[in-house]
Amino acid sequence: MPDFVGAVDQGTTSTRFMIFDHSGTEVGRHQLEHEQILPRPGWVEHNPVEIWERTSAVIRTAMNRYDLSAVDLAALGVTNQRETTVVWNRRTGRPYHNAIVWQDTRTDQIAAALDRDGRGDVIRRKAGLPPATYFSGGKIQWILENVDGVREAAQQGDALFGNTDSWLMWNLTGGVDGGVHVTDVTNASRTMLMNLETLDWDDELLSFFDIPRAMLPQIRPSSDSARYGDTLPNGPLGGAVPLTAILGDQQAATVGQVCFAPGEAKNTYGTGNFMLLNTGTDIVRSRSGLLTTVCYQFGDQPAVYALEGSIAVTGSAVQWLRDQLGIISGAAQSEALAAQVEDNGGVYFVPAFSGLFAPYWRSDARGAIVGLSRYNTNAHLARATLESICYQTRDVTEAMARDSGVTLDVLKVDGGVTANRLCMQLQADILGVPVSRPVVAETTALGAAYAAGLAVGFWKSTDELRQNWNEQERWQPTWSPERRADGYAQWQKAVQRTLDWVD
Ligand code: ADP
Repeated sequence: MPDFVGAVDQGTTSTRFMIFDHSGTEVGRHQLEHEQILPRPGWVEHNPVEIWERTSAVIRTAMNRYDLSAVDLAALGVTNQRETTVVWNRRTGRPYHNAIVWQDTRTDQIAAALDRDGRGDVIRRKAGLPPATYFSGGKIQWILENVDGVREAAQQGDALFGNTDSWLMWNLTGGVDGGVHVTDVTNASRTMLMNLETLDWDDELLSFFDIPRAMLPQIRPSSDSARYGDTLPNGPLGGAVPLTAILGDQQAATVGQVCFAPGEAKNTYGTGNFMLLNTGTDIVRSRSGLLTTVCYQFGDQPAVYALEGSIAVTGSAVQWLRDQLGIISGAAQSEALAAQVEDNGGVYFVPAFSGLFAPYWRSDARGAIVGLSRYNTNAHLARATLESICYQTRDVTEAMARDSGVTLDVLKVDGGVTANRLCMQLQADILGVPVSRPVVAETTALGAAYAAGLAVGFWKSTDELRQNWNEQERWQPTWSPERRADGYAQWQKAVQRTLDWVD
């Protein structure tokens, strides 16, 4: 058995390739950003060709840098930004349009129409999702309706849909020369097109969006010993490595955080925030604005489900302070700036730039900064930004407790923002629950590697993976219950303003 497992993490802002050993320790990595294309307000696109080129480049560079070749890798897993929609031609390999990114709100009319005539409730029941711009179904419909020639090609099976997992798998396995067209249950569960019970595309759901079945990938388990395919000698790995795992990024992080038992949860802080609570083989329907989603399916075992609280804007609000306001020069500086003041000075910031996701699901909401006085400075705004990340998380944990009865005794965290120790302290204060960060911060890539390694026997069981999890740091709540309750009440009033604004 080779010594390592590889994982491609195709994220919203960058693509990384990581190599792990048997103890789950990182052996090497390389990472490259790709362009965020913002053609109009609310529109967010990526160039799929650039994403494939960056993927190839990060794999080649990391393998060369650490002097590894294909024979050193037991398996390769792919994890990806979910929902982001690519449609391409199977004969030319060319995309018909830029990828429409999960944050893109151009399909708000499509989403709103679903709720006017009862189709929305069918989607909630069958797919576990509220109709929203977030998911792939409306994005596919938009491409079918707005790009010439795609509908005919889709009906003939020449135009293929995929999230970036499918796009990369197709390219890694040969592209126009016989690339496989597959996805996994976790990615498929984010389209509004898959039935959570059958784990297959659902004809009624497809009819709501007028999507031909011929354009959809085959849905496979997240970890598959039958492998989806092998990488090619002329590809970026320079040899055949079994491709044995696909997981949406948040589900991959849940696996990387070894949340294998019902009631275990993790929260990932990146561009947005995503909390997933493992609900075991039960499909728990949310009454509180959470999503029901597939957590993972390992081989021929039953699928494991999760409740998810998705928040669109968290780390990207920090980017906004840097790029649009220019009050910090880098994301990390938000910590020093916010630490200049002892509290938020009465300022609350609701960064509803892409509407509000969980638990509100209001695509029409827009951001607000409230409570300003002449006394306030950039430092208060930075602190309010960090607090907004934590308060949005509090909204989600409240919804999870209502839906599942599970109250967390510790919150396992990961993602770029967790480098901000002040933010993690605020999170413990605002939740009233300790916050715990593991040694391996790259839980997304690690989860994809775990799923890939399980499929080939590199790891024998999930129990073996549990042994690899180690805490690096823990933050304890310090606020009094009164301060916590008061702050949360203020936050809820601020959220109400972002909704009133558009009502
Ligand atoms: P993704 O996988 O969504 O691309 P990452 O996990 O790489 O995201 O995290 C990147 C995000 O984290 C960016 O939005 C950035 O603004 C934010 N970020 C990174 N470092 C810090 C920090 N020290 N403090 C606050 N935010 C940070």
